[in-house]
Amino acid sequence: MTFWQAWISTTLCAWMCAPALAQQEARDVSTLPIADVHFHYMAFMTPEDLRARMDKHHVRWVVSAGAQGAGGAAGSPGAKNPWARDSELKFELKDRFVAGVGGPETFSGERRDGAAFFTDPANLWAVAALERMNDLLKQDRRSFVEFFPNAENSSMEPMRRRRLPTNAHFFKEVMTLAARYNVPVPMHMEWHPESVAQLSELLDAFPKANVVLSHCGKITVADDIRPFFRKHSNVYCDLGYRSSPQGENESRKDPRRMIYWASSTFRKADIKPDWLQLVEDFPDRFMLSIDDVVSWEQYDQVVTATREAVLAKLSPATAEKVAYRNAVRLFGLPETVDTKP
Ligand SMILES: [Zn+2]
Repeated sequence: MTFWQAWISTTLCAWMCAPALAQQEARDVSTLPIADVHFHYMAFMTPEDLRARMDKHHVRWVVSAGAQGAGGAAGSPGAKNPWARDSELKFELKDRFVAGVGGPETFSGERRDGAAFFTDPANLWAVAALERMNDLLKQDRRSFVEFFPNAENSSMEPMRRRRLPTNAHFFKEVMTLAARYNVPVPMHMEWHPESVAQLSELLDAFPKANVVLSHCGKITVADDIRPFFRKHSNVYCDLGYRSSPQGENESRKDPRRMIYWASSTFRKADIKPDWLQLVEDFPDRFMLSIDDVVSWEQYDQVVTATREAVLAKLSPATAEKVAYRNAVRLFGLPETVDTKP
């Protein structure tokens, strides 16, 4: 670089880069309340541990995406079934916790009948599951658990590594419940063109029901979501499992899977610029999620990454919306809660 080239680039940058650098400067968002809208209560957790962790990190609310219940060693907290585990959490966290419907209700039918559970309107297991879900939603404020219309390449559970029609009969019925009880529907849907077209049809057919794309479509780039948000006003995103440490391994094969990352020896916490811009352009559509973690240490890392790489990079008004205001509105969370044990 010649002297003049260097001078031009330095002068231009002083003029053009200043606002960008100011924006990049991390703000203190360490106590901004967080609503975690997609959380799996894991087998190693206890209600008291979760409460302590939430208090430590100013996670004020947690919305169940389905408790992990089976598989815990006899006598351990995880040995209980998911219904019992959600009830334990509700007892401990009261209005800081929203229990889910649709997990235990659908699991056996799906394992038995596979895709027919979702596509066949006469499937008896599905009919019974929908009735039970309706009863629970009628009784209490609840969330739907995460549904998996397309987890072909992104589920630990072999049964879910398949692609269903996102506009299958079962999902239409869930959208009917969603509109009736004003509860959004979380969908884990890889961004396959057929899945996207079917979701589009579903959103058009049920304008009073909202869908939250779990992990914001899992394999999306910002330019996939931007036109979809423009087209549909009843779709939202959670940013769960799109960061390090959880998404680290899978992002080596597919870099699209990582949107933001924690600080490490080699790099500072940050978010991809086109995603940052997308969140700023659609500040009412994004929410935060811890999703599933393998340890409390990983829980800490995920919250820290979320604060440093997302909340600290956003404008103050957008950060507040993404941290909790959107979730309060969409999930009907009580704005003030008792955080004392
Ligand atoms: Zn999940």
